[in-house]
Amino acid sequence: MSKRKILIIEDEVKLGRFVELELKYEGYEVDVRHDGREGLNSALENNYDLILLDVMLPSLNGMEVLRRIRQVKDVLVIMLTAKSDVTDKVMGLDIGADDYMTKPFAIEELLARIRVSFKRKGDINKIEEDFSITKVGNLCIDDKKHKVTYNDEVIELTKKEFDLLKYLMDNKGIVLTRDMIVRNIWGYDYIGDTNVVDVYIRYIRSKIDSKYKVNLIHTVRGVGYTIKDE
Ligand code: CA
Repeated sequence: MSKRKILIIEDEVKLGRFVELELKYEGYEVDVRHDGREGLNSALENNYDLILLDVMLPSLNGMEVLRRIRQVKDVLVIMLTAKSDVTDKVMGLDIGADDYMTKPFAIEELLARIRVSFKRKGDINKIEEDFSITKVGNLCIDDKKHKVTYNDEVIELTKKEFDLLKYLMDNKGIVLTRDMIVRNIWGYDYIGDTNVVDVYIRYIRSKIDSKYKVNLIHTVRGVGYTIKDE
């Protein structure tokens, strides 16, 4: 795994330097900017995993920097507030900060907050990933990555084949008529024959059922098709 990249935007040079060294010691890759505008530019030009953002900054304050970052990126942001001012915290969280630290802080606490932020983000990504995956037996379709696998082996499908397989898998165990399939995959204005469904089912079967010697796609005579576990 490559190193996680953190950007520190903090105008107190000594504090910035201290945090930079601690983070590097923890194994992070670190950049430091001492001014709001420069910080914003770096944040937009690079792909940081996390940004430590001071509120009181020259040229562009931290709230404004955060607001502009949020318009285009969902990078983790921890605000560093000098005051224990509640309005700063609330405002920061409202604009989309993931967490905040009140200065002065113990470096151990900052490191812990950073670890927690990464963990939380990782968990959310994992959940989103799980939602985009549908399985039937060992057959797995990942909508987000547009990928189909059987026993982790990637199956190459054309766009239409993918859409058809996904439609079947989303309706696992339910019989879909040729008309339903045509309307869903080819659209209401499709004027061709519903035989096109049989043709594409044949393509998919040759790539999955025949290849892996399984029987997942079932023909329901006179009606249509369904996909189910063996
Ligand atoms: Ca400051």
